[in-house]
Amino acid sequence: MKKYDVAIIGAGTAGLTARAEVAKKTDNYVVIDGGILGTTCARVGCMPSKALIEVANTFHKQTLFDRYGISRSKMQTPDYKQVMAHVRSLRDRFSGGVIRGMESWKDHFIPKNGRFIDLHTLDLGDEKIQADKIVIATGSKPFIPDAWKKFSNYLLDTDTFFELETLPGKIAVFGLGPIGIELGQALSRLNIDVVAMIRRNAIGGLTDPDLRTYAHQCFSDELNIQIGSFDILEESSNRLKIESNGNSWTVDRILLAMGRRPVLKDLGLEKLGVHLDEKGIPIFNETTLQLGDFPVFIAGDVNGTRPILHEAADEGRIAGYNATASDVECFEKRTPLNITFSSPNICVAGQSHADLKKNRVEFVTGETDYEHQGRAMIMGQNRGKIHIYGDKKDGRLLGTEMIAPAGEHMAHLLAWAIANKMRAQDTLAMPFYHPVLEEALRTALRSIAKQSQMPKSEFEFSRCGESIVK
Ligand SMILES: Cc1cc2nc3c(=O)[nH]c(=O)nc-3n(C[C@H](O)[C@H](O)[C@H](O)COP(=O)(O)OP(=O)(O)OC[C@H]3O[C@@H](n4cnc5c(N)ncnc54)[C@H](O)[C@@H]3O)c2cc1C
Repeated sequence: MKKYDVAIIGAGTAGLTARAEVAKKTDNYVVIDGGILGTTCARVGCMPSKALIEVANTFHKQTLFDRYGISRSKMQTPDYKQVMAHVRSLRDRFSGGVIRGMESWKDHFIPKNGRFIDLHTLDLGDEKIQADKIVIATGSKPFIPDAWKKFSNYLLDTDTFFELETLPGKIAVFGLGPIGIELGQALSRLNIDVVAMIRRNAIGGLTDPDLRTYAHQCFSDELNIQIGSFDILEESSNRLKIESNGNSWTVDRILLAMGRRPVLKDLGLEKLGVHLDEKGIPIFNETTLQLGDFPVFIAGDVNGTRPILHEAADEGRIAGYNATASDVECFEKRTPLNITFSSPNICVAGQSHADLKKNRVEFVTGETDYEHQGRAMIMGQNRGKIHIYGDKKDGRLLGTEMIAPAGEHMAHLLAWAIANKMRAQDTLAMPFYHPVLEEALRTALRSIAKQSQMPKSEFEFSRCGESIVK
């Protein structure tokens, strides 16, 4: 049986970065993956979804044409076949790049799935291998409730959606987390008839009650959103009948966006004697990614903590580093940053409203909105609201939730300020150009500075020889 220093199960983002780290220390390693290569992000995730959103937003811009006086140039219906072909061609470029990057791995790659036999042995079907250390990086997959599997001919998830040759006339989107709202809104902007169903109002992962309400109002202008229980009733004439709150709709397809689940089921974890939490995820140390004292590490979506790309990449590096280290080291997480690419963007950075409440932090909220903000009005994107949370004592920035035009950029600025432990008054001493969307942040930051218990400085800039920035 072939013996390696390290085996990595899964060649997604976490597996790739784990490999890069392991390869610095040993040449005796292997990555195994029996699935479709190219990573979830490039194949069926971040990249094709953003490609579709870009087309949808460009098409949607024509809703402003009458106001601009550019009438009679409107296109009524996109060529859906061409839209999907464009999305796939970009997707193929991104995933092709990943696959080309793996060509140099040669004997370091086995295109098979792995399953634990014991802590050091993996069953690859027709062969077994051994490794001193093993990294689990098997990702996550869309959740499909068992009761609906009989309707599978009509069900789409993100693994199948981007393969559609053309788009259905009427579609239901079940779930409006980041994936559901991104794709649901994009489809609606492409003139597809969309009905969206959610059990409770937490669109895009927002936790702040005020922003949840605002987001619901904002997206309801474009989407038919039903909140409450919902179900698939029956198949009828090649369509599906669905219901929510006593009303029914008939749709061609359903896009299931009700969350993703870690891929753990067929890994044989029961052979390891590791403890599992209530969701069936092995208990592991979040700072080292090690499972107890076992020679096994778990990185990326599969560990269920922060299922987004840059976190999967970081975790792969940590797991790869620790799998080759004589002593396991612990690493700090970056400041949380989540972006949903709806229009307006939905973003959460630092501690969410729910985190602050749960941790009983004494905080103040600075608010701003985009309804009358100059640049947003010029752009025809004057919908949005930002809440920034600051420490009640000293105005130190703790977190933010927002639904905002170009929120992706605002969220980065605030995440970086939070990571640098800046106070509201420190950020106010930074330059704000005019007219930009960032100017709106000032209103919220000023409100935090005012509400905090810190003495107020007369100006937001420093006198010669002194600095108001801590
Ligand atoms: C539609 C969509 C949009 C998204 N948009 C964003 C975004 O905008 N920004 C963002 O940050 N994140 C986004 N994400 C999330 C991001 O794509 C994931 O967090 C990231 O891809 C996870 O990487 P990973 O390495 O953990 O898993 P993956 O890339 O899924 O890799 C797991 C690998 O493990 C393999 N595998 C599974 N089981 C076995 C086994 N038993 N043996 C061997 N191999 C196995 C699989 O074949 C797969 O190749 C999006 C996801 C989706 C679905």
